[in-house]
Amino acid sequence: MDIARLSINLATVRKQWNLHDAVEACTRHGITAIDPWRDQVAVVGLTDAVRAIKASGVRVSGYCRGGMFPAASAADRQTAIDDNRRAIDEAAALGAECLVLVVGGLPAHSRDIGEARKMVADGIAAILPHARACSVPLAIEPLHPMYAPDRACVNTVRQALDLCDQLGDGTGVAIDVYHVWWDPEIEAQIARAGGAKRILAYHICDWLVPTRDLLLDRGMMGDGVVDLPRMRAMIEKAGYSGYHEVEIFSAANWWTKPGDEVLKTCIERFKTVC
Ligand code: ZN
Repeated sequence: MDIARLSINLATVRKQWNLHDAVEACTRHGITAIDPWRDQVAVVGLTDAVRAIKASGVRVSGYCRGGMFPAASAADRQTAIDDNRRAIDEAAALGAECLVLVVGGLPAHSRDIGEARKMVADGIAAILPHARACSVPLAIEPLHPMYAPDRACVNTVRQALDLCDQLGDGTGVAIDVYHVWWDPEIEAQIARAGGAKRILAYHICDWLVPTRDLLLDRGMMGDGVVDLPRMRAMIEKAGYSGYHEVEIFSAANWWTKPGDEVLKTCIERFKTVC
């Protein structure tokens, strides 16, 4: 497939390069889009990040990340809302096509996942007017249920789309194969997302067997069990024509390799596997 539709989520090379070096390397490899993380932008400063990205001409397929709404106290929930508003401002400055939301899990000492999910809906509702005013769509990313307690209590595309239906314009979903490949409803829910024009991002990597770390052992496309051509067919059938964003957290493998080798492999696997 044409690499014009390839984006690199900069977490994939976070151990090798800072934002400036990553942008330069992506450009050198012919990659035309990136998704930076807030901490990577903070290291170089927002003004410099904006300048470097605009000068390079790379597109920003998304900005990672907002979210983490549930908290035990109203004050802490408000702190999260304020921080999300700043994330929206940064996304707007960077020209990001969406702000990716990892919505958060249970508040400390809580066993009430229903209440956490309500806090998520309330948190997104609170930031949505600002997101709309800044023209930054909010991409709710359902995470694999193994992250329900600590990262995201939105765990399926169906659940994310139900939230979008509840919240309205300016919301959509980030479909990350790592989190949703196992879902027996995935085909129907991707079709539903496409029909509602809700697919804001598509993240790719692979699920390794065995997976040695719940967070930091994502595989390169082709090295695991995800049927990537089938996933791609589903999102294309649903009308998605945006970027295919490689997002690999890999402490023991890809983060230890030279960044150029990682990018070359991403490009090759994107062309041959995805
Ligand atoms: Zn993702």
